[in-house]
This record gives sequence, structure tokens and C-alpha cells, in this order.
Amino acid sequence: MAERTLRGARLGGQSFEDERGIEFAARQQVGYRCQQNHEFEITMSVEADIPAVWECPRCGSEALSIAGIQREEKVEKPARTHWDMLLERRSETELEEILTERLELLRGGEIGPAHLHRASKR
Ligand SMILES: [Zn+2]
Repeated sequence: MAERTLRGARLGGQSFEDERGIEFAARQQVGYRCQQNHEFEITMSVEADIPAVWECPRCGSEALSIAGIQREEKVEKPARTHWDMLLERRSETELEEILTERLELLRGGEIGPAHLHRASKR
């Protein structure tokens, strides 16, 4: 696209194509189409993040990118459960081990509700 523009400038016999070429190379036309089928292009830097929607200059409604750029869904962090937090710190294997260990202690009356404690004869 940039090259074509540059050639066009040369055909016109202008001598500033180098400068313009650089400028065009750094920009791009992004097409949009609104619900009313109005199409328009927005000039953007090639480095810009292309927005998926742009306000239609004719009717003001939301126009979607023709290039098929997907609307970025706002990634809302799902609420972390206690289980999620636990898994960030321990693997399930580890948890399995801890559970077994704790169950043994519980069954042995070492831990747990006081009324379940067995008198330790040690
Ligand atoms: Zn429109």
C-alpha cells in the first residue's frame, strides 16, 4: 500500500517522494463500516493498536472494523476461590499428602475439635 502511494507521487513528477514515502510507510488506512452501511477510513499509525470500533462520522453509530479486528473483550478476572488460591501455592499431590497427614492426626485425636481429642497416653 505504501509503495503504491509512493509510485503515484513519482508519476506526478514531484520530487518530495522520499519524505512522503517515509510518512506514508508509517501510516495505514483502517476501514470501518457502521450499521447503516456507511464506510469510512481512518488514518492511523502502523504502530497503533487498531480499535475494533470507531464512531461513524455520518450517523454517529458504532462502526466495526472491516479488517475483522475483533472487539477486545474486557477480560474481567474471575473471582478467585479459596481453592484457586490454594492451588497457586500447592500442587494437588502436595495437598493430597497434607490431607492424608492431617487425617491421620485427626483420627489419632491429635487435632480437631476438642471433644474429639483422645487423651494422649504418651
Ligand atoms: Zn453511519
